[in-house]
Amino acid sequence: MGKTGDDAPAIGIDLGTTYSCVAVWKNDRIEIIPNAQGYRTTPSCVAFVDAARLIGDGAKNQATINPANTIFDAKRLIGRRFSDSKVQEDKKLWPFKVIEGPSDTPKIVVSYKGKAKEFLAEEISSMVLGRMKEIAESYVGKPVKDAVITVPAYFNDPQRQATKDAGTIAGLNVISMINEPTAAAIAYGLEEPFKMKEKKKKNVVVFDLGGGTFDVSILTMVEGEFGTFEVKAVAGDTHLGGEDFDNRMVDHCVKEFKRKWKKDLTPNKKALGRLRCACEKAKRILSSDTLTSIELDCLHEGIDFSMKFSRAKFEDINMEYFDRCIKTLEACLSDAKMKKPEVNEVILVGGSTRIPKVQCMLQKLFYQKELYKSLNPDEAVAYGAAVMAAKLSGNSDKRCRDLVLLDVTPLSLGIEVRGKSFSIVIPRNTPIPMKKSKNYFTSRDNQTCIDIMVYQGERAKSTDNHLLGKFSISGIPPAPKRVVTCIVYFEIDASGILTVTAEILSTGKMNKLMITNENRSLSKEKIEKMVKDAEDYKHEDQEYKKKVEAFNALEDCIYDMKNKIMNMGYSERLKIMERTIADTTKWIEHHEDASVDEVQAMKEYLESICMQEF
Ligand code: AMP
Repeated sequence: MGKTGDDAPAIGIDLGTTYSCVAVWKNDRIEIIPNAQGYRTTPSCVAFVDAARLIGDGAKNQATINPANTIFDAKRLIGRRFSDSKVQEDKKLWPFKVIEGPSDTPKIVVSYKGKAKEFLAEEISSMVLGRMKEIAESYVGKPVKDAVITVPAYFNDPQRQATKDAGTIAGLNVISMINEPTAAAIAYGLEEPFKMKEKKKKNVVVFDLGGGTFDVSILTMVEGEFGTFEVKAVAGDTHLGGEDFDNRMVDHCVKEFKRKWKKDLTPNKKALGRLRCACEKAKRILSSDTLTSIELDCLHEGIDFSMKFSRAKFEDINMEYFDRCIKTLEACLSDAKMKKPEVNEVILVGGSTRIPKVQCMLQKLFYQKELYKSLNPDEAVAYGAAVMAAKLSGNSDKRCRDLVLLDVTPLSLGIEVRGKSFSIVIPRNTPIPMKKSKNYFTSRDNQTCIDIMVYQGERAKSTDNHLLGKFSISGIPPAPKRVVTCIVYFEIDASGILTVTAEILSTGKMNKLMITNENRSLSKEKIEKMVKDAEDYKHEDQEYKKKVEAFNALEDCIYDMKNKIMNMGYSERLKIMERTIADTTKWIEHHEDASVDEVQAMKEYLESICMQEF
């Protein structure tokens, strides 16, 4: 069903590791929506200061002075277990605290309003999504509900589900989740409709290297039908991006500091935070200059730090990562059964594709082919997501109506069979939506129950893969082994959500599991609680804003009054007014915790004393 004219349009959100971006279809085109500061991307950063919560630029700007309570990188944590080696690795570098929660869930600990508070990565992401929702709402002038959120193509089910949960907690109705490179390809298709007519088919590689994730997708677009995007294969690394390059630079500087001053600055979180910030800036400069310097006064124990950083050094310390990107791309081409000369376009997405070495290696791989750089790498994903959002909410524009997305499953799916081996039901890079079944037999005489353990991954041993969920089917009639057949159906919908059903052939008895990530995803009750918490935080934020505004108004009032009495002649009245102004100023200093009503009452009192004279 289409939307009525009164409904707010559905939005597209690129929830990035370092930056997020929101877009909407308006007046026959896509608009990237700027935030209140006028920036078209917003840092995916949340900070807790004494009495308030900051999201986006406000949070990032104070990160170096409040490192332990400034949370970034939630996307590197979302949908992962605490014991995950990547989490353990990252934990060492994060200035904020991450602890093990129940069922191996990582929890972020911050100090907020004098108390320790724990958050799941989903909750932090939901705060960023909530801010993107607000940015869109102030632009369209209505409450926004429906959204398409993008995820890395190589995200597994728990990571997708947790991202969806974050959207729900933020008060969004997530109408679909699409893969980031696919969204970028949609943006490309919309921007380059004419060139596409030159060929019957167009094979494009989307190379998406962002702040924390690396994704490759190979798609085929079909001539005539503007909107048919058929994904052939995806590959990537959900833990490789600009932040890893920053980390290498930080490591290098830490070593240099140690060599020069014989001091280890790693326990000094504030110094590490400042260094990380300076390295990221230097990295960006090195994309246009070949040499830069990192200068930080009083970095550690009063020592000033100054160091030259060349582009060659940057490339040298990160070459391992760049090589990994190229190898992944080659493997993806092989999965798509596509030869390099068959590729018509290589599209660059993600801020880290600005790195000259990355561009140079890619160009070399494709025989010096010109790379497609016309899409804004920071905005292309939100752009494509907004097109999809418009389509799914019934936009009648031909470009939306014609859009057909044929995606693939990024990782193989299957179940555990005898000897803990992994039996694949749906191989990776299978087009979705899709339904497939496989027959299995009982392995013991008179077996009455079968446990179905659903895994995702590429390893032969089931336990080396990711357990998505388990369920069992019981009440099997007694029979010798290998006699009873159990049919296992795997069904994936267009959003990539998997349902596994097991059926005993002889009795028709069925049991099913919807892999909304049963064991890892949040329960309905938990989500409801978090939605409520999120609303409470929002309410608190609003209250805080009101309080700040009330104090500001009181201070403005004092300022105005002071100006006005300056021109008054001496009188008893003037003395009273001066005293009232002085008392109010003192009152402000000692009543930081006053309520809005109290502050307003003070203002009214001040006005009542002073106003009579004017
Ligand atoms: P994204 O997730 O696509 O917003 O990408 C953000 C990442 O791109 C961050 O790690 C940035 O440091 C990185 N980035 C942005 N601009 C540049 C640049 N000019 N050179 C190198 N990296 C950049």
